[in-house]
Amino acid sequence: MAFAVHNSLTRTKEPFRSLEPGVVRMYNCGPTVYSRPHVGNYRAFLFADTLRRWLEYSGFRVEQVMNITDVGHLTDDADDGEDKLEKQARKEKLDPWAISRKIAAQFFADLDALGVRKAKVYPKASEHIPEMLEIIDGLIAKGHAYVVGGDVYFDVKSFPRYGRLSGNRVEDLAAGARIAVREEKHNPEDFALWKSDPAHVMKWATRFGPNGFPGWHIECSAMARKHLGDRIDIHTGGEDNIFPHHECEIAQSEGFTGVPFATYWMHAKFLQVDGGKMSKSLGNVYSLDDVQAKGFSARALRFALIRGHYRQPLNFTWDIMRESTSALEGLDDMVVRLRRALHGEGASPSADDGLESFADVKAEFEAAMDDDLNTPRALAALFKLRTHVLEGRLGISAAAVALQFVERRANSVLGCIQTEAATIDAEIETLIEQRQAARKAKDFKESDRIRDELLARGIVLEDGQSGVTWKRK
Ligand code: AMP
Ligand code: ZN
Repeated sequence: MAFAVHNSLTRTKEPFRSLEPGVVRMYNCGPTVYSRPHVGNYRAFLFADTLRRWLEYSGFRVEQVMNITDVGHLTDDADDGEDKLEKQARKEKLDPWAISRKIAAQFFADLDALGVRKAKVYPKASEHIPEMLEIIDGLIAKGHAYVVGGDVYFDVKSFPRYGRLSGNRVEDLAAGARIAVREEKHNPEDFALWKSDPAHVMKWATRFGPNGFPGWHIECSAMARKHLGDRIDIHTGGEDNIFPHHECEIAQSEGFTGVPFATYWMHAKFLQVDGGKMSKSLGNVYSLDDVQAKGFSARALRFALIRGHYRQPLNFTWDIMRESTSALEGLDDMVVRLRRALHGEGASPSADDGLESFADVKAEFEAAMDDDLNTPRALAALFKLRTHVLEGRLGISAAAVALQFVERRANSVLGCIQTEAATIDAEIETLIEQRQAARKAKDFKESDRIRDELLARGIVLEDGQSGVTWKRK
């Protein structure tokens, strides 16, 4: 069976086909770095990571871009309200750039702890102003946008497909419901591409005036185009991004380029806390630190967040964390037992016993993931394998292929089972970090020693632009 994905644009499950054979270009809306991302954000980011891992499992090379929003995201998600970063900066008596650096660093540390594969690039909005202005100028020239004072608005009536993604019809959008009504707008639903505000700290001088900053939506149109091109395969986000954010991105990108922007739009349902909304005022917004302070591992959090299907509601409670931890221990334990079975311990007498049931498990795992990333079904297949193992139904040969599959294949998608391979990888990462620290401290004797130790273990280091990478000899 081939990979099928639910496309928010068509509201149907469609067979996945990339624009270029063998390559997938994917853009994920990333965090707004005004406060540490919470477990809900990580549901959306881990969905993107699982998607990428499944595409890689299926043989695609994935060019993944996840942005960092460090300016222009207003508190009401549309044209009114305060810039989230500037508001936080005032509260903390810091400048917004310092907030952005601090939160982005925490975000990257969280991604590492959660075992998220690195995107090709994490572009920052504030570093793509010229790319945004190029699109804005083009939209004005094409009659899709207009200037009022120092502000630039997109004219939604100039783009007949506006509303197609979210199902909103321009005429039905209650004036002021999500997008504030402003006298100077041609239509109440028009949204800002560029805004002027002398009080804004993060600001740029342009032909529209000396004190401008971008609208949140134009940022993603510009960063996706810069790093992936005019057309991309997949665009993801949380369900709240559908409107207005992604609806506006489509209008801007397609209005400017004249070609379809993303083929597939995929959205993760919101994570709820104790069955309700996660909100700072309710005090139920949890970060990875909060989860770890309660004694749970990042690995267990990863498992808790990916074990539900990304389009089904998912609840976050401490009971669910406890349950996830013990379920994950069950999978860890299966790996230990499979390894023992290689030596005959707990194995079925005939070496080939269980080969067929293993083949069924593997086929079910793959069919489930191919079916719009059905992680709960894929996990159920692994738990079925665990039952076979516990009941001693696998012979030595079956145990060998099953172990190989779980460690190298299934876990390349799930990224949270404690396997020998994962333990070794973690040790290597630690040694590399120690070598980096030694180099920074100019202790070259120590850094050479670590490099030699790694070499002896068959690990070759490569110093690249985005840091040190490693591969097996
Ligand atoms: P933000 O930092 O607000 O820009 O959000 C970053 C990403 O997290 C966006 O794709 C949001 O849609 C997503 N997101 C925010 N809250 C949740 C939640 N409770 N559950 C799932 N995704 C979320
Ligand atoms: Zn975005």
